Amino acid sequence: MNSSKINKIHLYNTLTRKKEIFTPCEPGVVGLYSCGPTVYNYPHIGNYRAYIFADILKRTLRYGGYQVKHIMNLTDVDDKTIRESQKEGRTLKEFTEFYTEEFLKDIKSLNILEPDKFTKATDYINEMVEIIEKLLKKGHAYKSRDGSIYFDIHTDAEYGKLSGFSIASLKRNADKRLEIDEYDKENAQDFALWKAWDEKDGNVYWDADFGKGLPRTELALVRGRPGWHIECSAMSMANLGEQIDIHTGGVDNIFPHHENEMAQSEGATGKKFVKYWLHNEWVLVDHKKMAKSEKNFYILKDLLDKNIDPVVYRFWLLMAHYRTRINFVWEALLGAEIALKRLYGLYSELGAEVGKVSKAYQHKFKEFIGDDLDTPRALTVLWDVLKDETVSNADKKATVLDFDKVFGLGFVNSEKNKREEKIPEEISKLVVERDQARQNKDFQKSDELRKQINSLGYEVKDTPLGAEGF
Ligand code: AMP
Ligand code: ZN
Repeated sequence: MNSSKINKIHLYNTLTRKKEIFTPCEPGVVGLYSCGPTVYNYPHIGNYRAYIFADILKRTLRYGGYQVKHIMNLTDVDDKTIRESQKEGRTLKEFTEFYTEEFLKDIKSLNILEPDKFTKATDYINEMVEIIEKLLKKGHAYKSRDGSIYFDIHTDAEYGKLSGFSIASLKRNADKRLEIDEYDKENAQDFALWKAWDEKDGNVYWDADFGKGLPRTELALVRGRPGWHIECSAMSMANLGEQIDIHTGGVDNIFPHHENEMAQSEGATGKKFVKYWLHNEWVLVDHKKMAKSEKNFYILKDLLDKNIDPVVYRFWLLMAHYRTRINFVWEALLGAEIALKRLYGLYSELGAEVGKVSKAYQHKFKEFIGDDLDTPRALTVLWDVLKDETVSNADKKATVLDFDKVFGLGFVNSEKNKREEKIPEEISKLVVERDQARQNKDFQKSDELRKQINSLGYEVKDTPLGAEGF
């Protein structure tokens, strides 16, 4: 039996808007689908929050005793991929394969475990066509004048149940359809399942035969390409079945992407598509969402250029709950770097022997991580066990390695665990500042500084000659 089994894992379900006890469709086995990147550029570090969150979720489920099948898609055909590949004069395949490789390197450096399978949208065109045929047959979809096929949201009485969007106020307006995959909350309308070819698409098209779905009077063959939402429905159903346990993405995926995925999947199968919808909050910059369009983004290379290990970024994210927004500033990342090096340092002093996992600490860890993946509180347990003088070094080591199955901070990687002999400059500065505050009898400030030093993994010992960080 798995000794780290967690009795109850609570997860916040966007669909029901509450934390629920997780129970998969099939006992012990979890089908997990994560919306992956559009491979047209380097993802920014905000995007990586979505994949690190999915990784922590998967690791927690595995740690908790479940067998997890994880699928992540790679969107390799849409407006952006077509446009950018044309600009570079490369075929869509060449272009998207390059960015797929870059993505794989990035996730490795972030200690993200690869999904069991990456699915490329272009490998699932037939499955998409089949779903669209079913929707046509059932009257949920229609063909427009230019040949594109749309989902009629008015045929879905429950449309809006995920995002809370109400279609009651919307008037049917067939002429105001959008031509792109992206649109905002204000623009809820029938969405494209299949887009008829136009010259902007160049040589990117498939000749799809919707013969089984369309009345015989209509032309069944439509040269075109899929809409974005149908890609995820097809890939998740093909690999995980018509009903999946957990679907993840960032909060900006809730509407329209996930709302539409759900509408078309449930419209086609008549079954509940996803049991638990989980979404991570944003990484912000200057309190605005980090986004390519805002030009306020960083990529992993920006970290590497500053000699910051991507795992530091992972650690920084884990210090916040995945459902809270976090504001990215370099100082915060440098603080995380100091704290992580401190952890590696403490770990490296434990010696070679691996003892037994501390049950008491493991109990606390499971309680926190099982409470909707509360990584900030779970990290406090890691610090506590490392500092507990009643636990042997060998047992500490076993406990840290056990927790790291979920954190993925790479404690086993000995290269990283070299002791930082010197007290980092930032800590020394804080210690001096605190000393000054104490001398000025500003105990509130000195207390705040002590807390700040502690949060970076150091403690101050007051000696007759002043304070000393260690
Ligand atoms: P995209 O490539 O835009 O589809 O985004 C890929 C993933 O990153 C999606 O799950 C988004 O919801 C997520 N995402 C995008 N921007 C951010 C951000 N600033 N912070 C956190 N997640 C984000
Ligand atoms: Zn998706």
